[in-house]
Amino acid sequence: MNTLRCPKCKEGIIEISKTIYNLPDNDKMLLIKLECNKCDFINKDIIPITTRTEPGISQLKITNEKDLISKVYRSPTAKIEIPELELEAEPGPAAPFYFTNIEGILNRFEKAVISYKNALVADQLETKDIDVILENIKKAYDGNFSFTLKIIDQSGGSYIIPEDKSKYSFIKLHS
Ligand SMILES: [Zn+2]
Repeated sequence: MNTLRCPKCKEGIIEISKTIYNLPDNDKMLLIKLECNKCDFINKDIIPITTRTEPGISQLKITNEKDLISKVYRSPTAKIEIPELELEAEPGPAAPFYFTNIEGILNRFEKAVISYKNALVADQLETKDIDVILENIKKAYDGNFSFTLKIIDQSGGSYIIPEDKSKYSFIKLHS
């Protein structure tokens, strides 16, 4: 196999690692990681080996810290919801697909809520409701706030890879 030079430092050798994830419903996904042995260059790519085409609602109950490492693949067409925290992320043409875990999703939402709060503060508006949400997000990071992650995907392709399968469900939307 040819060695691949790092595009960033031009010195290091790129090391390629491949991991296959087994998804619910026996689907498989390949995670390819390109990493330089000299600098901090890193690139990750996700390739669905068998793609679920069914549109549906994937749902995971998060009740402890271990659940937070469950992996999530969100396709650009999917909407994400955490009803207990009143959080929602709409799909859209600019929405990236991403591969993260539950903690990563909390992190994205937390950043959005903080910038919303800053806007309220700037307009001298009440932030009490927002503060409650932020407190609950903090508890959620420690596994002390139970919540539900819902991925509503109208065209299919999103996944949750649960740490605890008994807390996962998938409902078909239409066929
Ligand atoms: Zn490099």
